[in-house]
Amino acid sequence: MTIWNLGSINADHTYRVDKLPVAGETLASRSLTIGLGGKGANMSVAAARAAARVCHIGAVGEDGTKWRDRLLEYGVDTRFIAVADEPTAHAIITVDDDGENQIILYSGANGVIPENLIGSALSEANAGDIFVTQNETNGQYEAAKIAKELGLRVMYAAAPFSADAIMALDGLIDILVLNEVEAGQLQDATGKDVSELGIAQVLITKGADGVTVYDNGTRLDVPSVKVDAVDTTGAGDTFTGYFAAGLDRGFGLEQSLNLAVQAAAIMVTRHGTADVIPDLKDVQDAKL
Ligand code: ATP
Repeated sequence: MTIWNLGSINADHTYRVDKLPVAGETLASRSLTIGLGGKGANMSVAAARAAARVCHIGAVGEDGTKWRDRLLEYGVDTRFIAVADEPTAHAIITVDDDGENQIILYSGANGVIPENLIGSALSEANAGDIFVTQNETNGQYEAAKIAKELGLRVMYAAAPFSADAIMALDGLIDILVLNEVEAGQLQDATGKDVSELGIAQVLITKGADGVTVYDNGTRLDVPSVKVDAVDTTGAGDTFTGYFAAGLDRGFGLEQSLNLAVQAAAIMVTRHGTADVIPDLKDVQDAKL
């Protein structure tokens, strides 16, 4: 089986600063690291590191083909990553000594993924495959509709949060993944409990407090693994990528959740995003 991930690809530029700049201020940074990021790329890497077959559907600009190549190095099928006329998406992230950050996102090529590319990619999919997307690209509705019609399981990781984006996919989502804050926002927007939206499986991640799942209305709580967290960036994406990989490999719900919480726990003990997502051997060796 295959995971088809319509997702963002960002170049993350992370600047370490003594303090975050205020309006009008110019600051020298102490260091710069540039790495692969974007929720979509992170999830593809996580699923590939969990030994799933992953095909990423997306776009970079002429300036960003190395990020497509990086995904390939991680074992992701990159045949359906277009090179668009827009610049590659990027994030400018400033982090101060207290770990506080400011982020500016430029969505660039993530917003111009050709619809015919999405169609071509999904024409290779088979019923029972998993389609994953997030809210950082164009084409979410069109792709989810095709995927659903082809009998794929549609998984939506609802970030960056938009109740409208979730409601636009009404009837198409089989598995919704969101964090506690987003679950509260969705409840406020719909006036309904997230377990009553008609979505088969709703996964609410709660950081160190674990995950609450509504599986066709039945609640299941899975605790997080206790670790010393140093950087929670990418924890949610690692969780989602590993969870999708578990399902894709034929694991049941609980086994997929256990795998995902273990991988996410390792992730929070590391600094960085896509490049430090643990692989299956890390998860096995950690014996969590
Ligand atoms: P982010 O946006 O930081 O990637 P998120 O808000 O989407 O994360 P979280 O709920 O913070 O998602 O984390 C996702 C999963 O990662 C949790 O369900 C848990 O399994 C794991 N996790 C996050 N923080 C911790 C922690 N401090 N200790 C152990 N596991 C954690």
